[in-house]
Amino acid sequence: MELTIKSFETPYKPTWCPGCGDFSIWLALRQAFVQLGLQPHEVYVVFDIGCSGNMCNFVNAYGAHGLHGRALPLAFGVRLANHGMPVVVIGGDGGSYGEGGNHFIHTIRANPNITYIVHNNQVYGLTIGQASPTSDKGAKVKMSPEGVIDEPINPLTLAIAAGCGHVSRGFSGDIPYLTQQIVSAMQFKGFSLVDVFQPCVTFNKVNTYQYFRERVYKLEDKAHDASNKVQAFERALEHGDRLPVGLFYKEEKQVYEDALPQLEKKSLVEQSHSYTPGVRDLTLVVESFM
Ligand code: SF4
Ligand code: MG
Repeated sequence: MELTIKSFETPYKPTWCPGCGDFSIWLALRQAFVQLGLQPHEVYVVFDIGCSGNMCNFVNAYGAHGLHGRALPLAFGVRLANHGMPVVVIGGDGGSYGEGGNHFIHTIRANPNITYIVHNNQVYGLTIGQASPTSDKGAKVKMSPEGVIDEPINPLTLAIAAGCGHVSRGFSGDIPYLTQQIVSAMQFKGFSLVDVFQPCVTFNKVNTYQYFRERVYKLEDKAHDASNKVQAFERALEHGDRLPVGLFYKEEKQVYEDALPQLEKKSLVEQSHSYTPGVRDLTLVVESFM
């Protein structure tokens, strides 16, 4: 059967609010799979909790829905079990940079071959509009009617500082460009981040499509050198009237799976059939340590 974006659809229709930026990411993700020639059974998607995570019902591929903020360790386990399969993680700014902030930093350090797509709408959408780790200081949201006091997290500078080898940002309002960002991230060998400006049309009345359209520009239009870490930091720190999208930083480095001699010849799932009877009985393993 011909591979199209419909190949990745399920019988269920999205329940997102009309106009939500999640629709564009859903489309860009499926377009990226088609461009990469992946069949639904050839890719694994792990979803975090949140409006973004509701996508688990709308994507036809291997997948799992993790606990809030814990999608990355789950995805890491999938990679170690079958490192021949591309793994993508879908999360929101709350789960990724709040509850899962620790996993974000330390998965970057390990550098498994995983692509992390973050729906960054600068608010907790599913729980109806609390401030998130990327809400702007002073932003007035439901639970902070006098304005957010905390400084926002900058996911891009955080990722670069932690050692991420492929750091990019897209915008829900530009689907072809976002598709390109996802394809490039998935082609990269190592941990890749695609942070996405994703307007929450219901609970964020500041960071709207219009807000981003007036500010977003593409890094390649400014002759940005993605191999230059200092320049990447400078661009990632831009915040306010000008908001860059594109590839901020790229650096090839050792991938975690390649450093494991156990995975050298075959993935773990391919090895399992060759286990001698009884070895997979965990009581025997435990007893050997007694
Ligand atoms: Fe999208 Fe916001 Fe609605 Fe969630 S609450 S579906 S993020 S518009
Ligand atoms: Mg959010």
